[in-house]
Amino acid sequence: MIVGFLGLGRMGGPMAENLLAHTGRLLVHDVSEEAVAALVAKGAEAACSAAALGERCDVVFTSLPTPQIVREAVLGADGVTAEAAPRIICDLSTSGPQLAAELAEALAGKTACLDAPVSGGIAGAKAGTISIMVGGPEAAFDEVRPMLEAMGKPTHMGETPGAGQTMKLVNNLLGAVAIGVTAEGMAFGIKQGLDPAKMIDVLNQSTGVNSATRDKWPRSVLPRTFDFGFAAALSLKDTKLLLSEAEAAEVPLPLGQIVADYLQRTLEREGADADFTAIAKVVEEAAGLDPDR
Ligand code: NAD
Repeated sequence: MIVGFLGLGRMGGPMAENLLAHTGRLLVHDVSEEAVAALVAKGAEAACSAAALGERCDVVFTSLPTPQIVREAVLGADGVTAEAAPRIICDLSTSGPQLAAELAEALAGKTACLDAPVSGGIAGAKAGTISIMVGGPEAAFDEVRPMLEAMGKPTHMGETPGAGQTMKLVNNLLGAVAIGVTAEGMAFGIKQGLDPAKMIDVLNQSTGVNSATRDKWPRSVLPRTFDFGFAAALSLKDTKLLLSEAEAAEVPLPLGQIVADYLQRTLEREGADADFTAIAKVVEEAAGLDPDR
């Protein structure tokens, strides 16, 4: 079975590397020549285009920024299915349930589509410990399961296209709200004169502990590096995907809306490349603290 990987970014790069260690052979492509060269240096083969991946591979994994990019990279004129469709396409991006349904419908009878977004950040992608939430045909899932296990811990959420994406959006809501509420609590404590490092230590042994107090603050906010590795723009994309799906399902998510607003303000303050941990700066500024201290 020939396996391909499209999109070798912060998540895709390390995931492809773990997959290559399992399969022994991997065809890769990315619009960034640098990203391709890094994988080729580790033993992968450059495929030159998305269409070439589709033509030559039985299974193609994708890890791309947005639903629009995934749609174009799979269905577009130069996309994975332009020349010949692979048997299985497994999208590891956070691209939302609607796109998963669209791909499944467009490729019905040709290609089995799995949506398989991941959680666990760059560290988890490197360590092969990311959670992988999969939707789509169970037979296709069973076929790629050993490959997914080489990259992380897969769970099949159901055969409905988008079941994995829906699970991922739920997880993202909790992760994003944890960052927002941690930023608010920390800003209040700092304004009242508490020491931020001591606050994080105490939260991590108290009921306030969460993924932001455990990982994001110690690694990227307390040292003021704001470099956790997940772009605020991508986090905003995820939160907007969640809000539009929730609106369609008539489920009010006011906490999600607040986090989307914080992320929007983070991009306005810090620029398009801001890391999502820079939310802390927006909240600090609103509290009258100096975020650039
Ligand atoms: P990234 O921007 O680092 O990587 C994306 C890669 O796709 C880049 O190498 C880029 O050159 C490539 N690319 C863009 N358009 C392309 C195209 N048309 N054809 C081929 N390659 C193309 O993004 P990332 O942080 O690795 O995120 C990838 C996906 O994983 C996103 O959907 C994101 O929401 C999700 N995700 C990211 C994290 C994280 O911590 N970074 C965690 C979980 C999920």
